[in-house]
Amino acid sequence: MPEPGKAAWFRKNIAGPEPEDRGRRSLSFVRALIEDNDYNRRYKLPGRFEAVKYVTIHNTAEPFSARQERDRVDSRRDNASVSFHFAVDEREAVQILPLDIHGWHAGDGAEGPGNTQSFGIEICRSQCRGPADWQYRRSEENAEILACALLRHFKLTAADLRMHQDWSGKYCPHRILEENRFESFRARIAERLAGKPDSEERKVLRGLAGK
Ligand SMILES: [Zn+2]
Repeated sequence: MPEPGKAAWFRKNIAGPEPEDRGRRSLSFVRALIEDNDYNRRYKLPGRFEAVKYVTIHNTAEPFSARQERDRVDSRRDNASVSFHFAVDEREAVQILPLDIHGWHAGDGAEGPGNTQSFGIEICRSQCRGPADWQYRRSEENAEILACALLRHFKLTAADLRMHQDWSGKYCPHRILEENRFESFRARIAERLAGKPDSEERKVLRGLAGK
C-alpha cells in the first residue's frame, strides 16, 4: 500500500526508554472490527471459517501499534486480500475480524488450512529494537496471553499453534524466527494453558465471549 506518512509515523512510534511502571503490566481487550462495507467484504472478510483448528502467529515487521495495524487494514484499497483477527501490542489486544469469519493472513490461498482454519494473531512492534525493544518484548508477552485465551476458548491446545511460515514458507514471525524461539513461546503458552486463567487472561476470555 502507498504509505506517504510512514517515516513520520515510524518516528512518532519509536519509544523512548522503558517506562518506570514496567512491573504493572496491564493488557486490555478491544473489539474494533473493520468496517462492514463492500470493499472490506470483498477483500478482507472472505467468509465463514470452514473449521477452527489452529492459531497462527505473525510478526508485523513494522513498528506500529495494534490500533494502527487495525487502521491500516481497514483503510487499504489496493485490491490485496489481507486481514487477520487480532493485533496485539504492549497495551492492547485489538480484535479486527468477527470470530466466525476467516482471514487472509497465511499466504496459502483460498483453500489452505492456514487461511480457512486458523485465527491470525499479528504481534506488533517487531521492528522496535534498541531502546524501543521493550515494546516488542511486552507485545510478545501479551500475545502469549491472547493466544492462550483463544486456544482455551476454542478448546484447542498448544500443539495447534502455527507460525505463518508453516503455511506458506514466509519468514514470519521474523523476530521469533531470528531468535529461534518458537518452541519456547509454545512451551510458555502450554504452561499457561495447563493452569487456571489469570486476571489478564480472564479479561481476554470475557472479550472473546462478547461480555
Ligand atoms: Zn505473517
